[in-house]
This record gives sequence, C-alpha cells and structure tokens, in this order.
Amino acid sequence: MSNRRVMVVKSGGPEAFQEWRDCFAALDPGLELLDWDAALRRRDEVDYALVWDPEPGGLATMPRLRAIFGSGAGVDGILLDTRLPRGVPIVRMAIPEATQRMGEFCCWAALSLLKDARRMAIAQAAGEWDYFEAPYRADMRTVGIMGLGAMGARCAAMLSAIGFPVIGWARTAKDVPGVESFAGAEALPAFLARTDILVCLLPATPETRHIIRAETLAMLPPGAGYVGIGRGMQHRLDDILAALDSGRLSGAVLDVFEPEPLPAGHPLWQHPKAIVTPHVASLPSRAERAGFVARTIAGFERGETLPNLFDPARGY
Ligand code: NDP
Repeated sequence: MSNRRVMVVKSGGPEAFQEWRDCFAALDPGLELLDWDAALRRRDEVDYALVWDPEPGGLATMPRLRAIFGSGAGVDGILLDTRLPRGVPIVRMAIPEATQRMGEFCCWAALSLLKDARRMAIAQAAGEWDYFEAPYRADMRTVGIMGLGAMGARCAAMLSAIGFPVIGWARTAKDVPGVESFAGAEALPAFLARTDILVCLLPATPETRHIIRAETLAMLPPGAGYVGIGRGMQHRLDDILAALDSGRLSGAVLDVFEPEPLPAGHPLWQHPKAIVTPHVASLPSRAERAGFVARTIAGFERGETLPNLFDPARGY
C-alpha cells in the first residue's frame, strides 16, 4: 500500500514553508507538503492541514481532509474560519518544548517585574547610574496564574523553583503540585486578592474576552504586576494603561495585543512601567512542532486517538 499523503501548510510565508518542507522530509518522506495556493489547485488530494490562519472557507473545500493541526497552542486563528469542515478534528499543538519556552519567558517576566528591569533599561539607555533597591524577594510575591493548563502548569513549576509562591485559577479545580487551586468565576475575586503578580495564560474564548479590565485589576493588591501572555483579546489596554499611571499596577509585561502588532505611537511603547514584546513568549522551532505533527499522524494512522483536541463545547 502506498504511504503517500498530502498536507497543506499555511503558517508563515514562503521561507517558513520551505523550512516546514525540510523538517517533514526528514521525519515523514511519504508526506507531501503543499502551500495554500497549490492545495487549492489539488484540493481533492489533501489529507491533513497544518495551519495558523487558513483563508476562510478553504479547508471546507478539501473533501479528503482527516485532521487539522494548529501550528500554535491557541487555535483562535483557525476558528476565525466560520466555515470549517464539519467533523474534521482540530489538534492543538502541545509539546514540552513549547511549555519549557513559555516557562522561561514567564520566569523572565516575573523576575523583570520583581527587579524593575524596565527602570534599569531606561537608566542604562540614558547613561544614568540609577541606584535603587528592589523591595521584594521572590518569596514575598505570590504569582497568580490564570489558566492552569499545559502552559500554566509548567510556568507554575518553574516559578516555584525560583521561590515564588504560586496560586492558579481555571474553570475546574486542578491538582498541580505546590499550587493552590481556585476554580470558577465565583473564586476569581479571592484569587485576585491573593495575587501580587498576575499571569494570564488563558485561551481566547468568548468567556475570556477582556477578562483583565479595570474591574478585575481593582481586585488585585495595590502595586501588583501583570504579565499578559495569553491572547490580546483578554486584556483591555486602556485599563492597563490607566492602572499603570495610577500605580494600581506597578508594572506590566505584555506580549500579546489586539490588534497585533501594537500600533506605532501607542503610549505603551514608551511607557516607563511597561515591557512590550512582540508575541514571542513561546515560539517553539518548526522542527519541534513538525516532530509533534509527524508523531501524531503516525499514531493516528496506526489507529490511536488524536491528542489534545479542540472541544467546541469548551470553546478551546
Ligand atoms: P490548555 O488548554 O492546556 O489550558 C487552558 C487552561 O485555561 C485550562 O486550565 C482551562 O481550565 C483554563 N480556562 C479556559 N477557559 C477558562 C475560563 N473561561 N475560565 C477559567 N479558566 C479557563 O492551554 P495551554 O496551556 O496549552 O495554552 C494556553 C494559552 O496560552 C493558549 O490558548 C494561547 O492563547 C496562549 N499561548 C500564548 C503564546 C505566546 O507566545 N504568547 C504561545 C502559546 C500559547 P479548565 O481545564 O478547567 O477548562
């Protein structure tokens, strides 16, 4: 039996496509990769899709499609296509390399807030010897993580190892070693009241839109820090700016925005209390992600269940 299968890839530009092709050539030589335009010309042959932002309606025209792989942990870019093919499973990327990278970023962000790295960077840029003492040690600042999934749990473990007390909030109670778990909307105020550095690592769903806004920021202890690394739709930037200006927030590290990129001239670019990064908190390499997709396809073709599926009922 021929092992030839076809996968459409739409995640990055032409150079990225070439890199994907090189990665899969080494991992699964029977898998032919097509870019988006080629796949539309050969739509009857496509077995799998690996996509970040498919053009709406396109995947539904591929009758053989057996599974859609998101090229990132969040599949919100795929869900923008309201005409996705019915019954074709969507697999969310879940790889240890990605959670490790996210954990590193999260620790860097929490430590940057703890040590006021933004103040140091401003002083260095001005050539000033701005001597100051950071008031807290890690063990004095509780990190509260919203979203205790694959990313959140790994961040919790790495933050704990540095010495931060860690608590977490999710829809349902979690059993993460060393992490006090808060569950559901009714527990959110108590969770926020205990949080000195808030980390948002939620998926983009209708429930999480603008979950970080003036009302929720007001539940944090005065002078708390904020790390926004889930999705830009989860925080209202005007409210974050106001909280930074009033001192309600002592600092913020923001990696995700709506829209992206953050528009030129936006006050956050120059804000003395904000660190802005360009949606790079966890960027596993294409080789790491291709490894996951190739292993998953191999398992699927042996009859194994697909892992980490998008669940329309949950919304993520
Ligand atoms: P998971 O699906 O493993 O975990 C999601 C977590 O969020 C679960 O604990 C879930 O709780 C919780 N959650 C979902 N909806 C709600 C809600 N309405 N209220 C409370 N808790 C909720 O996802 P990952 O950890 O793999 O990824 C999380 C997100 O991180 C991604 O969706 C993406 O948005 C973001 N991300 C950002 C990146 C970046 O570079 N900035 C890179 C990668 C991911 P429960 O289990 O109880 O449902």
